[in-house]
Amino acid sequence: MEDDGATETTRTGSQAGRTRLGPDPLYWLVHPNGGRQAIDPRQFDLERLAEQARRVGGRLVVEGSPDTPAGPRAEPDRPPLRFEPPVSALGPLFRARLERVYRCLVDYEVDVNPRPTTRVLGGYYKSRRLVRVYSHDRQGGRRPLEELFDTFLHETAHHIEYTEPDSFHARECGRVPGRMHSRLFWRILGDLKGRWADLQRT
Ligand SMILES: [Zn+2]
Repeated sequence: MEDDGATETTRTGSQAGRTRLGPDPLYWLVHPNGGRQAIDPRQFDLERLAEQARRVGGRLVVEGSPDTPAGPRAEPDRPPLRFEPPVSALGPLFRARLERVYRCLVDYEVDVNPRPTTRVLGGYYKSRRLVRVYSHDRQGGRRPLEELFDTFLHETAHHIEYTEPDSFHARECGRVPGRMHSRLFWRILGDLKGRWADLQRT
């Protein structure tokens, strides 16, 4: 879809091969300073991890979809297990995440838009250097955090392709008319995702 030089990310086309995170809850270790770390639940004894976190003033939280119970409710003194940052916090959160793995040469705006959509997940508006992510699915309600971040990375890859193709050893933006995603685009997105995944492993 083209509008004002914009690209839009939809469930079809570019997103077809994307792996959805599925209904599995996301586990987060919240450090005493408020920092968050995603946890692979298969790699930890969660009860023990929660206990350790509490001892140092942090906590373990689980993010699930609103209709999925977040597991057994524990002792009353325990904070609620489910954790979802407010939509207004997502833009700054995603920007901060990206900054940990890549510094954009040209600044951009982020708009996490709560208008419910069916197919459209996000867009990049070239003239305004605006990265937009739609947070809500018309039917399913709020989209999972990691899915929203995935869309954010996709749209920032468009931004990088437009504004600094040199950073990826390309002479100019690799887009060709009629084709929304160039090889350069996929290289940039793959690089961003790889860096982020590497960071999660360290
Ligand atoms: Zn795209």
